[in-house]
Amino acid sequence: MAEQILLRAEGVRKSFGALEVLKGIDLEVRQGQVVSLIGASGSGKTTFLRCVNMLEEHDAGDILLDGEPIGYRMDGSRRRRLSEAKVSAQRARIGMVFQSFNLFPHLTAEENVMLGLTKVLGKSKAEAREIAGHWLGKVGLEARRGHYPYQLSGGQQQRVAIARAVAMDPRLLLFDEVTSALDPELVAEVLGVMKALAESGMTMLVVSHEMLFVRDVSHHVVFMDEGKVAQSGAPSEVFDRPDSERLQKFLGRFH
Ligand code: ADP
Repeated sequence: MAEQILLRAEGVRKSFGALEVLKGIDLEVRQGQVVSLIGASGSGKTTFLRCVNMLEEHDAGDILLDGEPIGYRMDGSRRRRLSEAKVSAQRARIGMVFQSFNLFPHLTAEENVMLGLTKVLGKSKAEAREIAGHWLGKVGLEARRGHYPYQLSGGQQQRVAIARAVAMDPRLLLFDEVTSALDPELVAEVLGVMKALAESGMTMLVVSHEMLFVRDVSHHVVFMDEGKVAQSGAPSEVFDRPDSERLQKFLGRFH
C-alpha cells in the first residue's frame, strides 16, 4: 500500500512585487519519502521551501501538512491567516536546516539542540539534555557537545544544526542547500548524516545540487524551471530520461 501523503502542494503561487517566482506548484511528499527539488538558481526552490515553513506567505494555492492548511484556515472561500500561536505550533512540526547553519554562537552544541526542546516543546532541562545527547551521538558529535560553534568545523556545525532540527521530532524536515557553504572535503560527512536519517524513515524535502546524493537517496525528484514543475518522477526517470532540453542542459552541468 502507498504511504500516506504528508505534504501536499496544489497550485502554489508566490510573487515578489511584479516577479512571479512560483507559478502554480503541485507536489506531494509521502510519509517516509525523500523528495528532492533540483533546478537552476532562481527557479524558485528556496521560495517554495520557505512557503512550506511559513517563512513566506504564498499568494494562492494550498499547502497541506497532514491534510491541514499551513498558515491559514478557510472561512467559506476566504483564507484567514492563523494566529501567531497556531503558526508556531504548525512550524514546530516542520524542521528546517539552512545553508548557513544558523547556530547560536554563544551557546554550546548541546545548548543549541536543547533550546527548542525547552522553549518550544516545554521539556525539562534534564530531558532536553538527554535528547540532545542522543541526537548529537547520532550525528557523530557526542564528544563535542560542550563545544561552541566557533570551535567546530563547518561540517560539524551543520551536523549540530541537523541534530537540532531532528531532536524536535518533526513530521517533515526541509533541507535548503545545506552543503553549499561547506568546503568540499566536509560535504560527505553531512550527506552521510542525511542519508542515515533518510534510511531511518524520516520524511524529507531536500533542495540540493549534489546530484549523486539526490539520485542515490531520493524516492522522487522534482525538476523546477522558472517557477514551475517541469518534470518529476523516480530518480532514474528524471536523470536518465529527461523530457526537455532544459533538464538535459541542467543535468549536463554536473557531468
Ligand atoms: P532558487 O532557490 O531556485 O535559487 P529562489 O527561490 O531563491 O530560487 O529565488 C527565485 C527568485 O525569487 C529569484 O529571482 C530571486 O531573486 C527572487 N526572490 C527570492 N526571494 C525574494 C525576496 N524576498 N524578494 C524579492 N525577490 C526574491
